[in-house]
Amino acid sequence: MKFKPYTRHTIKEAPQWEKLSAEQRESVAVVSRVLPFRVNSYVMDELIDWDNIPDDPIYRLTFLHRDMLRPSEYEALRDLVFIDKDEQKIEQMVRQIRMRMNPHPAGQMTHNVPHLDGRPLSGLQHKYRETVLFFPKAGQSCHAYCTFCFRWPQFVGMDELKFDAKDTSELVEYLKRHQAVTDVLITGGDPMVMNARSLANCIEPLLAPELAHIQNIRIGTKSVAYWPQRFVTDKDADDVLRLFEKVVASGKNLALMGHYNHPAELRTRIAQQAVRRIVSTGATLRMQAPLIRHINEDPAGWAELWTTGVRLGAVPYYMFVERDTGPSSYFELPLAKAYEVFQAAYQQISGLARTVRGPSMSAHPGKVVVDGIITLGGEKVFALQFLQARNADWVRRPFYAKFDSKATWFDQLVPAFGEDRFFFQQSSPSAREEEVLEHRISLVAMKRVRETQASSPLGVS
Ligand code: SF4
Repeated sequence: MKFKPYTRHTIKEAPQWEKLSAEQRESVAVVSRVLPFRVNSYVMDELIDWDNIPDDPIYRLTFLHRDMLRPSEYEALRDLVFIDKDEQKIEQMVRQIRMRMNPHPAGQMTHNVPHLDGRPLSGLQHKYRETVLFFPKAGQSCHAYCTFCFRWPQFVGMDELKFDAKDTSELVEYLKRHQAVTDVLITGGDPMVMNARSLANCIEPLLAPELAHIQNIRIGTKSVAYWPQRFVTDKDADDVLRLFEKVVASGKNLALMGHYNHPAELRTRIAQQAVRRIVSTGATLRMQAPLIRHINEDPAGWAELWTTGVRLGAVPYYMFVERDTGPSSYFELPLAKAYEVFQAAYQQISGLARTVRGPSMSAHPGKVVVDGIITLGGEKVFALQFLQARNADWVRRPFYAKFDSKATWFDQLVPAFGEDRFFFQQSSPSAREEEVLEHRISLVAMKRVRETQASSPLGVS
């Protein structure tokens, strides 16, 4: 199959476009002004069940719906797009909606960007001591876009919210000076959109003797689900596999962090071939994805996904909680429900698949997992712990938050047992200062959004 992408400008050329109702087509046309939209021939032909739209999970995963905007936003934007047709007003309104959608979750732009000789390195993030994220410029798109993606701002051209590095020179220099770093995560977008040569240019410098402290090279990718041909039939598929073998032969671990949202993505023959070919190189393939309303709420689906993955040689890794960005109100589920889904799925799988962890939130202080919902001393609480944290001392220390049946994200939780703060919020003066700074930044950001809205002739709220 030839890779053919469809965007908002070309989706009408897809044979399946005729299968969408007038309302569904309108939704795509309107919402794709705000959020990114891209599918491809494989997703369209092999993954979406067109007799089951709009409820088909892969359709929900890739096609935009009117409910992803607030009703007032949708109606106003639709009128601008189809009646007014004033591009300047459309642009202004689109910008307001995007800023309302928290385009910058978990403090990424302010807290995680490392510096070299006083210069910020915009193509890198360094949040946890041992792991540096690298965003190669050529890998900042995907074979298709997920409608819930927390990286949506970079796909719609919000340049100030982009991370991308032209080459590896700054990464290598930074790593040389940070011997505690053991892992580099090459991420995007999807780095597997790059050809084998460009990918080698990112990876091979990490094999240099002066970077012996780098033990694990990870690649975050959805290609295993959206374009498994990347590892099987693409003209440089074999070159990619040889590159993986080269990393393994160097003594380092190459880990593909495979993003699978639904078992349908692993039911096709080519998707299964891709897994087998990847692991045959000595690389590991881990499976991770967020839990998303409308798409993967069924525990049996997760159990099928993890069980199939293990049979093929992949390792179940994370079930995430959907982040509070973009159309999160369309996709989010209460933490209590997320815990219920995870537990029910976990109970259905064998010990080999129980490498999976979740439901986990990639929050500002670290990766917080909901370990249980229990009653302690007469109070119903969430039992929580950090799987990963800005401060390594916080990891795996149990802590508790008041049970809240509606809470969907970590920052909505309050400490249990009458405490006024969680243990990590009082652990050091620098942490307190950081909290105060973060609070100030969010107040300034909110003020700017409100000022924009107040001055808007469109009155978007
Ligand atoms: S493939 Fe990954 S980075 Fe790309 S849109 Fe989906 S979740 Fe986002």
